[in-house]
Amino acid sequence: FMRPVDKINAMIELYPRGLAGFKSFTELIDTEPDIADRADAKPVEMVLGDIVFDNVGFRYAVNGRPALKEICLSVRAGETIAFVGPSGAGKTTICSLLPRFYEVTDGAILIDGTDVRDITLASLRSHIGVVQQDVFLFGGTVRENIAYGKLNASDAEIAEAARHARLDEVIEALPQGMETVIGERGVKLSGGQKQRLSIARMFLKNPPILILDEATSALDTATERAIQASLDQLAKGRTTLVIAHRLATIQNADRIAVVEGGRIIETGTHDDLLKESGAYARLHAAQFSGA
Ligand code: ATP
Repeated sequence: FMRPVDKINAMIELYPRGLAGFKSFTELIDTEPDIADRADAKPVEMVLGDIVFDNVGFRYAVNGRPALKEICLSVRAGETIAFVGPSGAGKTTICSLLPRFYEVTDGAILIDGTDVRDITLASLRSHIGVVQQDVFLFGGTVRENIAYGKLNASDAEIAEAARHARLDEVIEALPQGMETVIGERGVKLSGGQKQRLSIARMFLKNPPILILDEATSALDTATERAIQASLDQLAKGRTTLVIAHRLATIQNADRIAVVEGGRIIETGTHDDLLKESGAYARLHAAQFSGA
């Protein structure tokens, strides 16, 4: 069992990699046979990152129940929008539709005005990065794992990405630095270190659109702050969709969308939504009163 966002990540990262990831990718795609390029789909070279959800509805094929209803949302290029709401509200599902892990059942999603179904999957996914808690690492060196974000990256680019992600201090402490083998047969990285590695990968991949699945498991406060700081830096200048599980980390998002029962019921800045005394204000009061 994989959460949708794990699959998105695996697919996005493996799809353009050709043989390296081919087996896993076909295993994944086998479970979703409906997703394929349209005959007239085209790759897109440049993406600014304007995103529009135009009256999007979605049902999972397994149960046919509507998971999303009438989602209308415009996200400007470079904007950070955080989705909050109760478990099962539909936050992950909204984000899964953008790289077309699932196909919308109603409405359309547009990137820079183009329906995502008119873009080839490989091209679409090359413009989207996913950062999440459970990081996909393979048995190889730290350098190889970072370079997975961009296979032809130079050493200087890899080092710079590591610095941006504050992975350099981790690397310095490893026995062979960048050349240390990690994974099952090598050095085990901690949860926080793996996250930094995935952030380094994203700095290298440099996609205009990001999906951040916020960590739910406890990291120590210092690590969490450091990771939050690198995520904030990563999000700069990119259109960023945050799947938020805690409200504390998203107060600086440009906008917050409250999702409930498959609908977006409120959008606004943290301050606006608090003033409205609606669903967000109630979630906020509940979370910060220790309830
Ligand atoms: P959480 O905060 O717990 O991660 P969420 O807001 O991200 O929740 P989703 O995971 O998007 O919510 O789920 C929305 C609805 O879709 C829920 O009713 C969920 O049970 C259902 N759902 C999610 N994934 C699938 C799936 N792969 N197949 C069938 N139904 C699913």
